[in-house]
Amino acid sequence: MTENTVVVGAGVVGLATAYRLARDGLAVTVVDAAHSGAGASVNNAGWVVPIMSTPVPAPGMLGQAMRWMVRKDSPLYVRPSPRPEHVRFMVGMLRHSNAEDFHRGVEALVSLNERTLALFDDYGRDGVRFEDHRTGHLLVFHTRRTLDAYQADTALMQRIGHTAVPLSGDELRDLEPALGAHVRAGLRCSQERHLDPASLVRGLEQRCRELGVRFLHDSPVTGIHFRGPVATSILAGGEEVPGDLFVFAAGVHTGPLSRLAGFPLPIQPGKGYGFDDASGSVTLRHSVYLGEAKVAVTPLSDRLRFAGTMEFGSWDATIDPYRLRGIVRSAHEYLPGFPATAQPQGWTGLRPMTPDGLPVIGRLPGRDNVLVASGHGMLGVTLAPVTAEVISAEVAGGEQAAGIAPIAHPFAPQRFASRRRRAVAGGRRGRRVLPVLAK
Ligand SMILES: Cc1cc2nc3c(=O)[nH]c(=O)nc-3n(C[C@H](O)[C@H](O)[C@H](O)COP(=O)(O)OP(=O)(O)OC[C@H]3O[C@@H](n4cnc5c(N)ncnc54)[C@H](O)[C@@H]3O)c2cc1C
Repeated sequence: MTENTVVVGAGVVGLATAYRLARDGLAVTVVDAAHSGAGASVNNAGWVVPIMSTPVPAPGMLGQAMRWMVRKDSPLYVRPSPRPEHVRFMVGMLRHSNAEDFHRGVEALVSLNERTLALFDDYGRDGVRFEDHRTGHLLVFHTRRTLDAYQADTALMQRIGHTAVPLSGDELRDLEPALGAHVRAGLRCSQERHLDPASLVRGLEQRCRELGVRFLHDSPVTGIHFRGPVATSILAGGEEVPGDLFVFAAGVHTGPLSRLAGFPLPIQPGKGYGFDDASGSVTLRHSVYLGEAKVAVTPLSDRLRFAGTMEFGSWDATIDPYRLRGIVRSAHEYLPGFPATAQPQGWTGLRPMTPDGLPVIGRLPGRDNVLVASGHGMLGVTLAPVTAEVISAEVAGGEQAAGIAPIAHPFAPQRFASRRRRAVAGGRRGRRVLPVLAK
């Protein structure tokens, strides 16, 4: 029987999982390398958007990436890196950039997202406090051609009640007068929501504490002890933390952690950039996706948040000024009231990406009591509550696990098993130590 659960990672996925397991009645400890909420779970656009249930590898992605590679401020960039795991990851992503895998991925994500809004509603009812906005979402485009591609994707989400209604440029400007004259068409998605991501992280941690969850901050996990296939404790900030069950929810660092557990998962960073603007030069009610530029704009209570860019091959938080300027330029193109000369203070976040664009949720093969909740890419905020639900069902076992199995199956770590089997066999015994954790 599971008594002591240790969740590694106090990002939105780890906190949502800790909260859910504590509600299930388990004793939970959360261990995090950082002092307080930082990284992707705080630095993101804060959209709760089941309508965007699409994996990143998509047909045509290769061609687009090649065209964008020559632009220093492009929304997609692959930083050359000799790391073999980066090269393998990029090859894997290209392999999945086909129509069949894409549609299979959409089906899986749509099913996973079916209960997302209901679970966020439960948060509110149970006293998880965060800044929540229900004004809906707009995707806006300069050309009809780009809209058509998005419209085809969003049609698939209708079966879970998420709709995208086409609007003309003028209709969009009636809703959001700040949109410029170049905006010709768009989609209105009324069911989608947005939130202040830092407030969600704070709210979940606060509610976890009320439920008795213990937190160990400033405690990077550097080692795991095993007895046969069973993990018995982790080494966190020099302290040995015992447990009956371990959940790795360490974002991009779940890759190195899973390696420690003998089953290295192909999770790599997709670096995003953003900035906050409190000048009031532009006001919006809806969250807005600037379609061709792939920039997210989020109206929060005291500021507008801009976010975008997918940069592969970077593990650090450094800011490339060209990419930040690219977001400023796009903001001005779609929202002319926003000054093209703005020089905002930027931030970055590392999205945990997988080669097939699907999260990794479930039991780690070869390890009886290690589960993983990571790889959520562009959808970690949206998918955090439902991920926690899957983990909760797997921990409970029996009918609950069987009930969720059809939805959870496409996300199982097992799908990466064939190439990893030898590593598992080699990692069954003793203590494993992580030499250096890339931060
Ligand atoms: C620019 C940008 C915009 C985005 N917009 C959206 C959006 O609008 N909607 C949406 O749904 N998603 C969005 N995302 C994606 C979302 O932010 C991520 O998927 C999500 O934050 C991942 O959460 P996580 O908890 O898995 O990882 P993280 O937030 O990275 O948290 C992992 C935690 O693990 C800790 N950790 C790491 N290694 C160790 C270790 N060895 N020991 C102990 N602790 C460790 C870290 O300190 C960290 O606190 C966006 C991301 C970016 C970058």
